[in-house]
Amino acid sequence: MKRRLVLLGPPGSGKGTQGELLAARLGIPTISTGALFRDQMARGTALGVEAQTYIAQGHLVPDRVTNAMVANRLTQADAARGFILDGYPRNVPQVAVLDGILDQAGTPIEAALEMRLDEDLIVSRLLKRAEIEGRADDTEPVIRARLEVYHSQTEPIIDVYRSRGLLVSVDSLGTIEEVSEAVMRALGLEQLDNQ
Ligand code: ADP
Repeated sequence: MKRRLVLLGPPGSGKGTQGELLAARLGIPTISTGALFRDQMARGTALGVEAQTYIAQGHLVPDRVTNAMVANRLTQADAARGFILDGYPRNVPQVAVLDGILDQAGTPIEAALEMRLDEDLIVSRLLKRAEIEGRADDTEPVIRARLEVYHSQTEPIIDVYRSRGLLVSVDSLGTIEEVSEAVMRALGLEQLDNQ
């Protein structure tokens, strides 16, 4: 069974939600860089203070900061049995850094799950989330900036994983349960239902 996964897809495509469901199912952690940054910001750490200005504008936090944070998180004991990366890698250089970390340990990424969603739906979903969660970067101008960053820097990663034969794609349109079933099917996990 695949236990080292990367989630790909635009902001608002449901990576966080589906990542958590999948992680619970597989008994492995999700490693969400966005969540790690929000935790650092809430605690007012030096890393959080540095990340804050970039996140508030919808820009990527510098790779130097992000790569070190992820490398450190991957060394924690719970990641030894596998993990689901959500929000990382987010540009092509981060893919190379991740490869370096994992190749050294002989534990490469086994699948990249792409979640697809229409741009109009993305914006409306994120604006709705803003009302519920109050995330500071879920305002319309910042959402637009994040989408631009996604198209220019993150989308090219999809081809990288596709060319490695690791890409599986699901349509994120539907209820949480429907998308979750599509995710399980795409990863060949539906047989777990019967166990
Ligand atoms: P979303 O996917 O909804 O845009 P995230 O919670 O994944 O939100 O990320 C929030 C913000 O955290 C991003 O807009 C970016 O500023 C920062 N961030 C998250 N992951 C990375 C990363 N891999 N590299 C650089 N910045 C990141």
